[in-house]
Amino acid sequence: MNHPKEEVTFVIVKPDGVKRGLSGEILRRFEQRNLKIIALELFQPTREQIDNHYPKDQAWIDRLGEKTLTTYKKYGYDAKAELGTTKKDEIGKMVRNWLVDYMTSAPLVKMVVKGVHAVDMVRKIVGPTMPSAAEMGTIRGDYSVDSPAAANRDKRSVHNIVHASETPEEAKHEIDHWFSPDQIHDYKRAEEDMMF
Ligand code: ADP
Repeated sequence: MNHPKEEVTFVIVKPDGVKRGLSGEILRRFEQRNLKIIALELFQPTREQIDNHYPKDQAWIDRLGEKTLTTYKKYGYDAKAELGTTKKDEIGKMVRNWLVDYMTSAPLVKMVVKGVHAVDMVRKIVGPTMPSAAEMGTIRGDYSVDSPAAANRDKRSVHNIVHASETPEEAKHEIDHWFSPDQIHDYKRAEEDMMF
């Protein structure tokens, strides 16, 4: 088994993060926590690339639909009136399309981040999916107040600044999707001699 400091994860600064000039701040927060940026690029994605980035399996689509239905119930919104359906699979597909629209609306910054428990550490620095529920001190909590209630009312995806892999398996899949091995450059950070 690899040493925990060998763990890698995949991160995207989403269109709202890039257009608000937050890319540097996001990199800074990772680097401050002794994580290493070992691949980095600004690029304009195609719809196909984004479509292949997000899972296509029914369980993931149903989960997106269920989350939206939960929000509608919580705020007393009428899903049938606003979205034309109450079926989780149809709503999940709709949210996935909003997500592809959003993720192709501006350039993105993609990166590979390496370090101790990189996957969980990055998710902790980024904060939970919904910015309105994120604690201050996290990227989403410090820089966004978006919520599914607001987003779904406007028939759009939640704008939450960053994408970060959820598991090491997902990270591997996403790194393979977005980078070729010759774009990844590992090195030793100065702190590695002192801290570990
Ligand atoms: P995460 O990106 O934190 O792993 P998910 O995988 O659950 O979150 O969802 C993917 C992305 O889809 C989110 O980051 C967010 O931009 C968007 N999203 C998730 N749920 C909703 C929702 N109910 N309404 C609109 N957008 C959503």
